[in-house]
Amino acid sequence: MSVSQLARSIKASPTLKLNETAAKLREKGEPVIHLGGGEPKSKAPLDAILNCATQLNTGEVRYAPADGLPALKKSILRYTEENYGRLMAPANVIVSSGAKQSIMNILYAILEPKDEVVFPAPYWVSYPEMVKLAGGVAVPVVPEDGSFQPSVPDIADKVGSYTKAVILNSPNNPSGVMYPAGFIAEMVEFCEKKNLWLIMDDLYNRLVFDGQKAPNPFDFSKQPVEQSKLVVVQGVSKMYAMTGFRIGWAVGNRELVEAMTNIQGHQTSGPVTVSQWAAVGALSGVQTSIESLRLTLENQRNVMIDRLQTIPGVHVTKPNGTFYCFPDFSAYMKDSQKLAELLLERVRVVTVPGSEFGMDGYLRLSYCGTLKEIQDGIERIKWAVDPQAPNELFLGERKLVRDWA
Ligand code: PMP
Repeated sequence: MSVSQLARSIKASPTLKLNETAAKLREKGEPVIHLGGGEPKSKAPLDAILNCATQLNTGEVRYAPADGLPALKKSILRYTEENYGRLMAPANVIVSSGAKQSIMNILYAILEPKDEVVFPAPYWVSYPEMVKLAGGVAVPVVPEDGSFQPSVPDIADKVGSYTKAVILNSPNNPSGVMYPAGFIAEMVEFCEKKNLWLIMDDLYNRLVFDGQKAPNPFDFSKQPVEQSKLVVVQGVSKMYAMTGFRIGWAVGNRELVEAMTNIQGHQTSGPVTVSQWAAVGALSGVQTSIESLRLTLENQRNVMIDRLQTIPGVHVTKPNGTFYCFPDFSAYMKDSQKLAELLLERVRVVTVPGSEFGMDGYLRLSYCGTLKEIQDGIERIKWAVDPQAPNELFLGERKLVRDWA
């Protein structure tokens, strides 16, 4: 069988693959701890479930318009006004099957073959593959100073005549770092000056810690919406813990939204109607679940960072948000793929190798599980990598003896 060159160039989503491996091991009764996850464990807000159930009870579940139900677009417009201070029109919003589809369709809508898309490393695993799918060339930027905070000159250095867009994801998956307002302001100005699309992947911008607030990119834009190439991507997956509903959206100029709608219309049609009802419920209902999730994650971040700091030689930047951190394990092993495999094989802890995010030597660890999973998971990792640790470790009844250097 021969699949296309394009198909062959696309890697499997490593996070989805890890979930499968972990699930298989768990089915076999293995005591797996999943620190590789990308979803909060809390329940969807009650208002989401109630609105969805009420509508579902009518038994009438029809196609939705390709760009989303008018009621959901209305809720998104209100959300955008409240949280971004921008009053937009329905024609500026498209609802997609997850933020993932919104980003994919932005790229389909703006890229000519071989156009370049620049984004800082570490980056979300899907950006390079999505850019490739849309016929473009991904250009990751590794910050010069070894931090997770790119500078504007680092990015400007990679921008050339083929550059069509910049993607910024802040707070960032996988580092948890939130780019400061000054940087976002300069990037908005830079992209406006260079006539580049600026795709702000804001999926985690409500999950921010230490009393900080995510900068609002619209605050720094000098252009009216219809002339602006600033696009903000959002969704219910992370802030409302509604990953399985698959609802995300993009807010941008009408011409872009129309092009995305045409593409989406032939690709999937409008997102699942049932999920859109749930999203309307979440956006228009009681908002306390976001704050309670944020507080839980902040506490769990503190526990994970404290524990990680007890592993000699491991360096970790304290995340400002999200539910990930990105510690540097290169003192133990430079090949993060091998290290992640070793941790799964030897101590049954799922992590995601940094190489998937454009930085080898690091692991992405999630603190969206339970406190016990975080504590036990880090203890197991410490035991596996630290030669000073005792030679034996108990996983429940099972005794592990270190037989590796
Ligand atoms: N952007 C980033 C940075 C993400 O981490 C994710 C989900 N892991 C997405 C986009 C896609 O989210 P959704 O579930 O809405 O498709």
